[in-house]
Amino acid sequence: MIDGKTKVYGLIGNPVEHTMSPLIHNTIAEQLGEPMVYVPFPVERGKAGEAVAGAKALSIQGLNVTVPFKSEVIPYLNGLDGIARRIGAVNTLVAEGDGYRGYNTDMPGLLRAMHSDGFGVENRDVMILGAGGAARAVAYLCAENGAKQVFLLNRTLGKAQEIAVEINAFCEKELIRPMLLSEWEKIPGDGFLAVQATSVGLYPNVNDTVIEDRGFYKKLEAGYDLIYRPWKTKFMKLVEQEDGSAFNGLKMLLYQAVIAYELWNRTQVPESLSEAVYLRMRKEWESNEA
Ligand code: NAP
Repeated sequence: MIDGKTKVYGLIGNPVEHTMSPLIHNTIAEQLGEPMVYVPFPVERGKAGEAVAGAKALSIQGLNVTVPFKSEVIPYLNGLDGIARRIGAVNTLVAEGDGYRGYNTDMPGLLRAMHSDGFGVENRDVMILGAGGAARAVAYLCAENGAKQVFLLNRTLGKAQEIAVEINAFCEKELIRPMLLSEWEKIPGDGFLAVQATSVGLYPNVNDTVIEDRGFYKKLEAGYDLIYRPWKTKFMKLVEQEDGSAFNGLKMLLYQAVIAYELWNRTQVPESLSEAVYLRMRKEWESNEA
């Protein structure tokens, strides 16, 4: 029931037509009896500032931000939360004073997804594949949550090195070790948690993965692919072939939204509700795939 007291939240991005965020937020709000509605707003490229000012003028209480505005929106905000400042990207805006404060719930979302699967990075040996925006954020997640050692493997070594310099300075130790993807055999030991943070394997290129060699997958106890289209990526199939546990990025998508909802409504979403929303997302996902 929408009435004069309904609070409006939304998503700015381009494109936004296929987003699952309205399903997540509107389901949680309905279940918790919160008088709010969440809608996607397609915004033209280069118009992040107008979108933020317009949202504030319309008393929109909070926004999610997606591609291509995650960094572009920052100059138009009143302030940034610590994680968002370090990563240099926001995905959640919370109304504050005459504007919005920027947060990044993507990485806390991944961490909560891992915890719900019985994993985490604390005291673990981690490999991150990729050195783009997502991989950089995962590297910060490892630094902030007590990972033991982190190998950062990328096609372009320079990008991995840049991230390593930045994060090692942040945590004041040689935590992140940058390498070329092709150098994986130099990594000693096994039992790793791997996070696949490249765009390789994303639909329609479902038969691609950054590392094909089965020897690499023998080193893994678990593998997280940040991709969730297809449901099971080639990376995940190879992890499972070597008896590892494999997960896609859909739960990360769920929990980044749950954390945004919690910030907006100063509440805690019950885990049983998050799980119920996840089942709805899976159903929706499957009907889109069919
Ligand atoms: P990005 O900044 O564009 O980085 C892309 C990464 O992929 C780079 O490391 C790039 O290596 C690597 N790469 C691309 N093509 C490659 C190839 N042919 N061989 C080897 N490496 C290749 O992208 P991003 O924002 O970090 O996103 C990465 C992935 O994470 C995307 O698939 C995105 O959908 C996913 N993601 C998911 C969620 C979620 O909620 N589940 C959230 C954020 C991101 P170079 O540096 O050598 O170019």
